[in-house]
Amino acid sequence: MLSRLYLIILLFFLLPITLLATPKLTLDGSLSSYTDFNVAYLEEKSKKPLTLEEVRTSKFDKIDTNRFTFGYKGKPVWLKFDIYNDSEKSNKVILEITKMFHRTVDLYVMTTPVKQEKNGLSVPIAERNMEEINPTFFLSFTPHETKQVYIKLESTYGLFGSVQIKKPEQFLKDTQTFNNMLMFYFGAVLIIVLYNLFIFLFLKEKIYIYYVGHVLFFALWVSLYTGSIFYYIDMETFDLLQIAVPASFMMLILFSQSILETKTYFPLIHNILNVFLFLVSFSLIWMLVSIHWGFIIMNLSLMPLLPFLLFTAVYVASKGHRIAKVYLLVLFIYFIGVSLMSMLSLGLIPYSILISAAPIIGSFFEIILFSLLLAYRINLFREKTSDAKNKLLEQQRTENSRLFRAVAEKTLALNTANKQLSKELEEKEALTKKLKHYASTDTLTGLMNRRSYFKACEKEIKTAKRYKTKLSYLTIDIDKFKNINDTYGHPFGDEVIRSLGELLIENSRSADYVARIGGEEFAILMPEAGVDSAYHLADRLRANIAKHKIIYENKVVQITVSMGLSHLLQGDKNLDTIVKRADQALYEAKESGRNQVCCA
Ligand code: GH3
Ligand code: MG
Ligand code: MG
Repeated sequence: MLSRLYLIILLFFLLPITLLATPKLTLDGSLSSYTDFNVAYLEEKSKKPLTLEEVRTSKFDKIDTNRFTFGYKGKPVWLKFDIYNDSEKSNKVILEITKMFHRTVDLYVMTTPVKQEKNGLSVPIAERNMEEINPTFFLSFTPHETKQVYIKLESTYGLFGSVQIKKPEQFLKDTQTFNNMLMFYFGAVLIIVLYNLFIFLFLKEKIYIYYVGHVLFFALWVSLYTGSIFYYIDMETFDLLQIAVPASFMMLILFSQSILETKTYFPLIHNILNVFLFLVSFSLIWMLVSIHWGFIIMNLSLMPLLPFLLFTAVYVASKGHRIAKVYLLVLFIYFIGVSLMSMLSLGLIPYSILISAAPIIGSFFEIILFSLLLAYRINLFREKTSDAKNKLLEQQRTENSRLFRAVAEKTLALNTANKQLSKELEEKEALTKKLKHYASTDTLTGLMNRRSYFKACEKEIKTAKRYKTKLSYLTIDIDKFKNINDTYGHPFGDEVIRSLGELLIENSRSADYVARIGGEEFAILMPEAGVDSAYHLADRLRANIAKHKIIYENKVVQITVSMGLSHLLQGDKNLDTIVKRADQALYEAKESGRNQVCCA
């Protein structure tokens, strides 16, 4: 019981000593690389930097794995461990700090005298003992030799990475593999950039420039992060080029706005993204002043930006935007990579090779998938265009048939109206004809009436005078007609008048004008009829009338007529003189006993 208590007390005192004892890495000759061992860490806290002597006498903070992450630290961090060559042979190894972006990587080997070797971003590659991108140191051991090493690290960027010990052959192999991977990555980027630039030349759409910008800036950052570009630039340029990170994110925001069509369909989201755009560009400008603070501002902006972009993609996709679904998937992959990187830089998660490579792997998939998405987008556009075209055609068709129907209806209506109008016109014409007929015809006999007859006479006299042709005029009056009326009644008298009309038409020539010019008075104008022929015609007519029996209601009656004949003379100015002479002759016929033709 008591001995157990002693043991506990002993352990209690021994524990801090064991913890703070310098960790020791044993090179046993069987392994070609040592990637998992313990290291003692000391974070400087005072304003004044510590000297090596001060560090040697200081108590180190902790013992941890060879992988470290301290976030954005302004102050140096010290690493300490022993390396023991557990071999009968001498041994040569390479000590490597796996990230190249630390400003100061100073190695102190505790031999007498102390061996010091400077490395890190502040030492150009050409001035280093080993011309490698990552800070590397060559260490040689005699059999069973132990070397204590101190490493001073200082960084403008996130302080993370690992310290590794490798045999030279293994180091060479690993570097080769890493370089091959990078070549593959940059090759893919180059092809995709050229491909999309080519499409841009054809389509002239800004989205391709955003995409290419995003890819190029990200690739530039990868070249900085991995140090590939450090062969060609100095430290100041290296710092300046860090703006590639915010620039890449600015392009990603612009690309996202463009591909999700936020400006048109989601104005609120669009404006929030504009705020992020402002924040990220602000961090870019700040980087030109202070890399340290610029990076902190950027990482703080990115942390809400990426979840917001994810939310946007989910929201836009839920509204039926087909591209948003693919975009969401791509962004998710990218998001994981970048978030891990961001958290690593801020010192929130432990360092591991996989996590440190996450943004590159994520971006690799993102670059390829976004490129495919752009191609898919063209396809969607084509579908949309053909849909719109079909819709337009359909609309045009409907409109055409509607117009066609309307025109057909209108034509039908017009035709009906036209027919109606024609009918009305015909009726009107018939009516006019009828009216004209009534106006010029005697209703009882159907002969010309007085008005139309005299009109025709005027015309014929003019023609006869112009062509110096002959013309005769005959006036006819029924003898003692009053007696017929008185004896047989007025209707009988009418029948006599009608019958006489018929007789006159039958016995005259077709060129003659026959008219009833008064109650029982008739007249005939005989164009081109001279004295003799006119007289013969008149007398034959008179004789025929006298012979003719008029039958009406079983009664038979015979009438006689007296006639006055006149001819167109040289001196005749108009119709009146001819008519007057005919009337004179008729009067004579009456006076001379009726039923005869007298000539004037
Ligand atoms: P005359 O000529 O031989 O001297 O004897 P008249 O009896 O024919 O004499 P008058 O010219 O004076 O008489 C004409 C008659 O004709 C008078 C009128 O009653 C009759 N008359 C006129 N127009 C019509 C008509 O349209 N129908 C009938 N039925 N009689 C008519
Ligand atoms: Mg009379
Ligand atoms: Mg008479």
